[in-house]
Amino acid sequence: MPDRDDILTELGLAPAWRLRARREGSSPAGLRAPPPAAEGVPGAGGAGSADARAARIAMLEWRDFAADVDACTACGLARSRKKSVPGVGDTKAEWLFVGEAPGSEEDARGEPFVGQAGKLLDNMVAALGMKRGENVYIANVLKCRPPNNRTPEPREVEACRPYLDRQIALIRPGLIVALGKSAAATLLDTDATIASLRGRVHRYAGVPLVVTYHPAYLLRNLPDKAKAWEDLLFARRTLRSAVAAEPAAGGS
Ligand code: URA
Repeated sequence: MPDRDDILTELGLAPAWRLRARREGSSPAGLRAPPPAAEGVPGAGGAGSADARAARIAMLEWRDFAADVDACTACGLARSRKKSVPGVGDTKAEWLFVGEAPGSEEDARGEPFVGQAGKLLDNMVAALGMKRGENVYIANVLKCRPPNNRTPEPREVEACRPYLDRQIALIRPGLIVALGKSAAATLLDTDATIASLRGRVHRYAGVPLVVTYHPAYLLRNLPDKAKAWEDLLFARRTLRSAVAAEPAAGGS
C-alpha cells in the first residue's frame, strides 16, 4: 500500500506541509490566542460581555442607577473604594459639570466635589447665580476613587464611561462643562491642553461642551481663576444661544 507521501508525490502535491507539533499554549494555525481576561476587567468574558454590560447600563433608570454603580466590579477600583460616587444634583439640569474622579472626602461621603475643590466649584456655580442641585448636576468620569488620587487608567475610564453616557442621556443637559484635563481628554478624546481647548464650543453625545480648569488646579494657580470665570461666562452664553436656537415646543 503506497503511503501518503507517495500518493501526494504522484499527484504533484508534494512536498507535503505538516502541522508542527503544537507547543503547549499555542493556538491552531498560528493564530494568536486572546490574552486571558484579567479579573474585574469589563468584558472579562470577551468583548461581547462588555457590549452587553454597556447595553444594560444604557437602559438604566434613575431609580436603579446609584445601586447599579454601587454594585459595579468592572474594574479594580471596586476593591479599594469606600463608597461609590455616582453623581449629585438636579436630574433635569441644564448644566452638567464633569470632573475626573472622587478624592478621599468624596470616597468617604459618596458625593462628588465635597472637599476643598468642591467648595470652589460651589462658589463658581454660585457666581453664576445657581446652586448645587438646582439646574446643576455634578458627576465625574470615574465613579470610584483611584488609590492615592492617581490619574485614572484608560481601562477604568472605558469601564465607567457607560455610566456617564447614561447620565447624559437621562439628564439631557443643555451644556456640559468639562473640568480639567482628564475630563476634557475623556470626553473629547484628545491630549490637547486646557489652554488650547478653552473658548470653543465642543460637543459630546450631541451636547455642547466647554472646557475649563479643574477647581483643584485653580486652588494651586489662583491667577487662573479669572480665566475660569471667563470660561463660565462663555459657557452661559453658549447655553443661552443653544436654548434660543431650539425650535419652540409645539411649534409648527
Ligand atoms: N476632583 C474631582 O475631579 N472630582 C471630585 O469629585 C473631587 C475632586
